[in-house]
Amino acid sequence: MTDRSVLVSGGGVAGATVAYWLARAGWSVTIVERADGTRSSGNPVDVRGEAVAIARQMGIWPRLEEAATGVNRLTFVDADGRPRASIRTHKPGDHHEEVELARNELVDLLLDKARESTLIIPHDSITVLHEDSGGIDVEFERTPSRRFDLMIGADGVHSTVRRLAFGPEEHFSRPFGMFVGTVQAPLQIEDPLTVLMYNEPGTSLSIHPAGGKPGFAFIFRGQHNFDYRDPEHGRRLVESTYASGGWLTTLALKAWGASDDRYFDEVTRVDVPQWSAGRVVLLGDAASCISLFGDGSSSAIVGAQTLADAITAYPDNHTAAFAHYQQKHRKHIRPLRRGAGISSRLLVPKTRAGIILRNGVLNTLPFRNKQQTVPPSSGT
Ligand SMILES: Cc1cc2nc3c(=O)[nH]c(=O)nc-3n(C[C@H](O)[C@H](O)[C@H](O)COP(=O)(O)OP(=O)(O)OC[C@H]3O[C@@H](n4cnc5c(N)ncnc54)[C@H](O)[C@@H]3O)c2cc1C
Repeated sequence: MTDRSVLVSGGGVAGATVAYWLARAGWSVTIVERADGTRSSGNPVDVRGEAVAIARQMGIWPRLEEAATGVNRLTFVDADGRPRASIRTHKPGDHHEEVELARNELVDLLLDKARESTLIIPHDSITVLHEDSGGIDVEFERTPSRRFDLMIGADGVHSTVRRLAFGPEEHFSRPFGMFVGTVQAPLQIEDPLTVLMYNEPGTSLSIHPAGGKPGFAFIFRGQHNFDYRDPEHGRRLVESTYASGGWLTTLALKAWGASDDRYFDEVTRVDVPQWSAGRVVLLGDAASCISLFGDGSSSAIVGAQTLADAITAYPDNHTAAFAHYQQKHRKHIRPLRRGAGISSRLLVPKTRAGIILRNGVLNTLPFRNKQQTVPPSSGT
């Protein structure tokens, strides 16, 4: 089957995983990745549930365990840094069910596996897609045009493939009413296993130990007309929102202002009704997500294997393959999307009464020291 070719746009979690599985099945796979290799976000993400078995099949699970942050607790503090409530986020020492690790390390490990059998074009992007009955012609910003049998859009929440093949971003994206900014924290952490979080109404500031490379996360509510292509706007939004905060806010804002390696985006719901159009199919955040709250990395891994299996099962019928993938993976992500509202209310209560109520409830719950029921999210 080596005459079958597929182009994957985006060498992130979803793109690297689908490339690995398709190459194993005999496809000729090319990844085009816009980044030039210096991945910025070391924010923690989880690999859990069905994604664990897939990581084991790929032979990377021991490496994920080595890279795990080991963090297992979230403690809510007041403006003076005193603990007010606490909750377990992972079972201590239990790496067999899930790991939390830096996003960039996860992507590097997945890409290393994919690289064994995949051509990776770094620092480039597709610009034009033209499909006919026999294939799809692709133009790039830098690389000469090429023709492929199939195209996978795994290029994240602001997907270029989706824009070119399905329509403008605003047709498929809705603001969740929250924003997230992260930056490295120039601090020594006393407890490497605990995330500390401080809330004001509608905002949270947290510090994650992240295995010795601690990071601040600003997660806040708001309705702003934000354009992700304008990083300065993100910088200013954090500075104005947190101007009067307590705890480590002054230090965090100083780090935020001084860094040239910030992550900032609007938390976004992406919902594309049909994940495929002709020979083009969407995967990961490009197809469906509530960024930050939807367990995006694990479901990107699961979706990637489901898509690769479907393409392999229907090698001569991409329409049937894509329909099978969509039907199966939609069932997988439906419950994850429901959890987003609960997580956001727990982490960023809207009012001071909400903060007090949350802390009070956590302090009375008999299971507060056992595995928590609300999934933690990146940057927390
Ligand atoms: C730099 C970065 C930092 C992130 N930090 C966080 C975070 O702190 N918290 C959080 O919840 N989520 C974060 N995410 C998103 C998170 O990684 C995803 O929700 C999750 O891993 C799902 O994976 P995905 O592969 O669908 O998308 P992503 O992991 O977003 O991967 C998409 C990939 O496509 C690439 N890409 C984008 N456009 C193009 C293009 N036109 N051509 C080629 N390649 C393209 C990107 O560089 C990226 O490598 C981050 C994503 C990126 C890219």
